[in-house]
Amino acid sequence: MSAPKPRANLADVPAYVPGKPSQPGSFKLSSNENPHPPLPEMVAAAVAAIESMNRYPDMGATAMYQALAEYLDVEVDRLASGTGSVGVLYHLLQAFCDPGDEVVYAWRSFEAYPIAATVSAATSVQVPLTPEGGHDFAAMAAAVTERTKVVLVCTPNNPTGNAVTHTQVAEFLTQVPEHVVVVLDEAYREFVRMDDPLDALALAATHDNVVVMRTLAKAYGLAGLRVGYMVAHPDVAAAVRACALPFGVSHVAQVAAIAALNAAPELMRQVDAIAAERDRVLVALREQGWQVPPAQGNFVWFGIGDQAMEFAAAAEAAGIVVRPFAGDGVRVSIGEPEANDRLLRLAAGFREASL
Ligand SMILES: *Cc1c(COP(=O)(O)O)cnc(C)c1O
Repeated sequence: MSAPKPRANLADVPAYVPGKPSQPGSFKLSSNENPHPPLPEMVAAAVAAIESMNRYPDMGATAMYQALAEYLDVEVDRLASGTGSVGVLYHLLQAFCDPGDEVVYAWRSFEAYPIAATVSAATSVQVPLTPEGGHDFAAMAAAVTERTKVVLVCTPNNPTGNAVTHTQVAEFLTQVPEHVVVVLDEAYREFVRMDDPLDALALAATHDNVVVMRTLAKAYGLAGLRVGYMVAHPDVAAAVRACALPFGVSHVAQVAAIAALNAAPELMRQVDAIAAERDRVLVALREQGWQVPPAQGNFVWFGIGDQAMEFAAAAEAAGIVVRPFAGDGVRVSIGEPEANDRLLRLAAGFREASL
């Protein structure tokens, strides 16, 4: 006897490696979370919402969509939400890809992309990053075929940290056929401090094939409650909502999301502080001699190849938990100043020992 066999391609689903939980006395810098505890008004809203946990959430997530529409200044029918923006991505691939259709994205990028593509029975087409860790848009445009349904652009790119410019994306859109969905994954947009930053909503307003994907997990501090959303043409948004899990975003999560949007000015002050810490870390690492890509998210990237696991082990011994990608590099989230100082001490020591 053997158990019924699932779809054969599921054997190819890469495992998602979650950031390790931190031990007592160590800092968790492995999942790009906001290190600040949630604001009291967010906690109060979520706690109050718990009182009605015997009821299903609002199926239409009406209040949350209304709050998002006002916050973003877009029409409600251009929105779709899900359990994190990864949930939205799953629904989008389900809505647009038949088996074997192609999803083009840079690599290395967000590790959820190959998983989501495979689960959706789509075929991943991975286009290598430039040596500096940025998107190679010419190569990505060339990788689009008749089977391509979706292109994913992660900016800032997880894990390398490079962000694309508005000019680059606007130019790229002229190279991609209009029937291909172009997802701009802006999970870390709040941390971007650069010239010519991407204005993804403006591109979505003028291009019917552009999808702006965002999350409340990072800057807004709701990683544990799973809320993400997208903004797109109303027909695209409707197709994604049609694929969404009924009642996917819990009532507590919806209420906390509204509270987070209301608290945006305070949360953006936290983001300012994190971005300043990131810049401090980046400057210090470069002074130590590290070649770190221009970090625009709340993390930095050490492209140290074979030494990734060794670095991660040294980090753990130094009281910080980082995210290694075996054979490729190490991503380290920006955390509390003390955690960042530990990283700088570790990086200096590691460089000295391995030179
Ligand atoms: C963290 C992250 C997300 C958001 O994931 P959620 O499902 O919203 O928690 C999306 N894209 C990238 C690139 C990320 O790093």
